[in-house]
Amino acid sequence: MSNAAALIAGLGDIRVVTDPAKVQLKSRDFYWYSPVLKRQLESVRADLVVEPADEAEVIRTLAACHKHRVPVTVRGGGSGNYGQAMPLNGGAVLDLSRLDQILEIGFGRVRAQAGAKLARIDQACQEHSRQELRFHPSTLKMGTIGGFVAGGSSGAGSIAWGTLRDRGNIQGLRIVTMEAEPRILELAGDAIQKVNHAYGTNGVITEVAMPLAPAWPWVDLIVGFKDFMSAVRCADALARQDGVVKKLITALAAPIPELYFRPLQSRIPQGQSVLLLMIAEPWLTALRDFLKSWPGEILLERAAVDPKRRALPIYELSWNHTTLHALRIDPTITYLQVLYPPPAHVEYAAEMHRHFGEEVMIHLEFVRFDGQIACLGLPIVRFTTESRLDEIIRHHEDHGCPIFNPHAFTLEEGGMKQVDRSHLAFKREADPLGLLNPGKMLGWDNPDYTGMSRQSYLYKSLGTA
Ligand code: FAD
Repeated sequence: MSNAAALIAGLGDIRVVTDPAKVQLKSRDFYWYSPVLKRQLESVRADLVVEPADEAEVIRTLAACHKHRVPVTVRGGGSGNYGQAMPLNGGAVLDLSRLDQILEIGFGRVRAQAGAKLARIDQACQEHSRQELRFHPSTLKMGTIGGFVAGGSSGAGSIAWGTLRDRGNIQGLRIVTMEAEPRILELAGDAIQKVNHAYGTNGVITEVAMPLAPAWPWVDLIVGFKDFMSAVRCADALARQDGVVKKLITALAAPIPELYFRPLQSRIPQGQSVLLLMIAEPWLTALRDFLKSWPGEILLERAAVDPKRRALPIYELSWNHTTLHALRIDPTITYLQVLYPPPAHVEYAAEMHRHFGEEVMIHLEFVRFDGQIACLGLPIVRFTTESRLDEIIRHHEDHGCPIFNPHAFTLEEGGMKQVDRSHLAFKREADPLGLLNPGKMLGWDNPDYTGMSRQSYLYKSLGTA
């Protein structure tokens, strides 16, 4: 970057990191989950990292970067697995981890700076008034609230509350624009959707207001089944037990548990498929009674929050942590992110399980999706070649199961968001020079891109954004 010295001078007393090893570290996220992204993004590197201490320093940083035409890629915890936080055009990584204040906790609502870690927010809300975030990614300990909103979607709790795309699951955002004189915008209601899951391409989030739920004493359970589809049907029926308060229903086909969950191997008999559950303690009797009519056996049951134990919380075996455990044991595997759409999600899962066998080991997260019970899948794929991976993706899509392709780094190809005219208009307003996380929004980089949508992808209830 030829203008680095001028930029650093313009940043004045704002903390800047130029040490090459540290800059390299902060230029990466969990992109290496994908063998395709690993190949494509291996050499991506920022020129420097800026670490503002507060919103005023964010504003000064953006003004200086705008003046010197330096691209800015925002970073929270760096735990995204789509290469979202990787600075494709170099420039500055804007590390927001020092904006970590929890500003306000009220009945049903928390407001925090964007760099606050999700686990700290949860803990503070529990201590304040026995409340917690409605749902969180399995990266509760790594992720920040700003990064979750800008790059994530759902997690433990989504079986009760849906995903970030559902109205009401983000209460408010405060963002800073990328202009000569950056402005502060407060977004509420449907306007939030422009910035939700936009990979920081159209504004830097500095504050987030989120709704809260009661913090129940959760119990972690593992239930074993000899037959995977019995486990899936049981999970689907449990998801519909409206009186049972639950936070997690994960179904994992054999041999995922026995191959990849080393710490639990003594508990999980060979060949078993499992359900991972988080159930609120007052509803354990109801759960046990429900399970009596299913051919499953409780293999593990323990209080989720037990400070005396250092055991892995069960959510750290679920969502994309399942893939992490698998990658640690077998770095040659890869994965997909799939929607098995309602109301036939169980049949779709059964069909993919039957068709691919152990080449695509099925992992389902039961969620409420656009108002219905559905499954988000994170199947583990025995990777051979990129062309075979493409075939597997195509087979899913041709058979009604959309893929949120985790082997692509653009918003549109990742598929969780389709960029429509209102997104482009907002980007023109908030980042007219296209300096925020360049390369991630196809609709901006390539005006001929034909995937422009008038609807929020797959979210009919949101209507035209
Ligand atoms: P980062 O990775 O730092 O950033 C994510 C994106 O948001 C980037 O594009 C970045 O530029 C942008 N961004 C970050 N902060 C801001 C900001 N303040 N303003 C504007 N843009 C910003 N995701 C889920 O949704 N559910 C899961 O259950 C889940 N499980 C995971 C498990 C593992 C093991 C891994 C590796 C990933 C998982 N993820 C999951 C993805 C990711 O961990 C989460 O989405 C997490 O919340 C991201 O937060 P972060 O602070 O690490 O974001």
